[in-house]
Amino acid sequence: ETITVQELANRMAERGADLVKALFKMGSPVTLTQTIDQDTAELLVTEFGHNIKRVSESDVDIDTSADVDAAESLQPRPPVVTIMGHVDHGKTSLLDAIRGAAVVSGEAGGITQHIGAYQVSLPDKSKVTFLDTPGHEAFSEMRARGANVTDIVVLVVAADDGLKPQTVEAINHTKAAGVPMIIAINKIDKPEARPQRVREELLQHEIVVEQLGGDVQDVEVSALQKTNLDGLLNAIHLQAEILELKANPDRASEATVIESKLDKGRGPLATVLVQRGTLRVGDVFVAGAQSGKVRALTDDKGRQVKEAGPAMPVEVLGLSAVPSAGDPFTVVENEARAREVAAYRQSVLDRKRTTAAPVSLENMFASKAATTMEFPLVVKADVHGSTEAIVSALNRLSTDEIRVRILSSGVGAITESDVTLAAASGAPIIGFNVRPNAKAREAINRTKVELRYYDVIYHLTDWAKSAMGGQLGPEI
Ligand code: GDP
Repeated sequence: ETITVQELANRMAERGADLVKALFKMGSPVTLTQTIDQDTAELLVTEFGHNIKRVSESDVDIDTSADVDAAESLQPRPPVVTIMGHVDHGKTSLLDAIRGAAVVSGEAGGITQHIGAYQVSLPDKSKVTFLDTPGHEAFSEMRARGANVTDIVVLVVAADDGLKPQTVEAINHTKAAGVPMIIAINKIDKPEARPQRVREELLQHEIVVEQLGGDVQDVEVSALQKTNLDGLLNAIHLQAEILELKANPDRASEATVIESKLDKGRGPLATVLVQRGTLRVGDVFVAGAQSGKVRALTDDKGRQVKEAGPAMPVEVLGLSAVPSAGDPFTVVENEARAREVAAYRQSVLDRKRTTAAPVSLENMFASKAATTMEFPLVVKADVHGSTEAIVSALNRLSTDEIRVRILSSGVGAITESDVTLAAASGAPIIGFNVRPNAKAREAINRTKVELRYYDVIYHLTDWAKSAMGGQLGPEI
């Protein structure tokens, strides 16, 4: 009897990445979708302090990670875009302008509904999906929950203001996620606009835009005057083509909840973004720990639709309760199965609540490749000089087997953004003579991110060294 690592992780209510890492330490480098034998599985189960109990297949959660779509079933799908940037640099204006332009061009035929995402059509009839909640907080919260829905980030920078703290945060979050970026230099209509300065400031963050000979697309726009929105959409289209985004539309649908609410008249509503398959009215589903049946689907123009394919956002009516953003939404064969999975997930949630495993050294390693491991960190210090010294000291610890990866480094108190970034990547936060502010403390309690304080650099590097060495294990 064999089992995939992912499925075992589901059964144990542990993170797949942790199992992969444990297996790596045990000398068997495997990926999430590979199978392991029963002996290895039992060893792992005990290693994680669980009791071994064989359960029937129907007791376990849905696992489709091993169920890869055949190449010939894949069809191009629209890219999903998130807009990020500093406050007041024009994220909302840009989202509205793009949607507004689509409405004017006559494609709408309905009244704009704010359901959490919308789609626009390009002249070649291809589509682009925009998530309506701009900013990196929502982006990283979704990632922390395992939902990677964004394909492309549009980073908005006001040409009259240049790079600001939240711009830099957005850059860090985007880089940590490995999502390609397009720079929208906004407010180009303003007399004090200095787009070239924006390009130069980006260089300090290793972003070299095309205008300066790099490969990150940069587009000058004015959300206010609706200037060059086409240019921005073209850039997105081009980036999407490079990414070759594809999905199989002909299968039971898997989607992600991107927004949810309780409507007075209609009850619980969730907007989902279909990842693969086609979602249809009448489908039975599990959303997080809730089950339900699709009673109606509403698109972003308020129209009732019968179905939604990959990357199409739709509002679903027919939930028993309000799910959370980032929850997986999966169509299953029948209601009995849906209830079973929902109940199982609820039991996992209950267990998690009582034994919340903190994000720690144990599960901080990127697991994809068993070749070079990464040691991600978020660093905050009291003065600039310390930050620089710490970052270079930490970087010097990198070896061929394990590489230090500073997701973000900065000066000042530990903020909520630092915490969401760390949580999304399973990284600890280092506070060097600094502490978290109130909001960050809340976020730390919620996410259980590991926080370490230091006031002597070599204490910090000693810890990092032994942590890195310990994770590699003696066999390497
Ligand atoms: P957000 O906080 O990033 O969502 O920014 P908003 O979209 O709310 O815009 C902040 C302010 O900048 C508003 O007063 C907008 O009218 C203004 N604004 C946005 N885009 C432009 C633009 O292209 N040109 C000018 N002149 N003002 C803009």
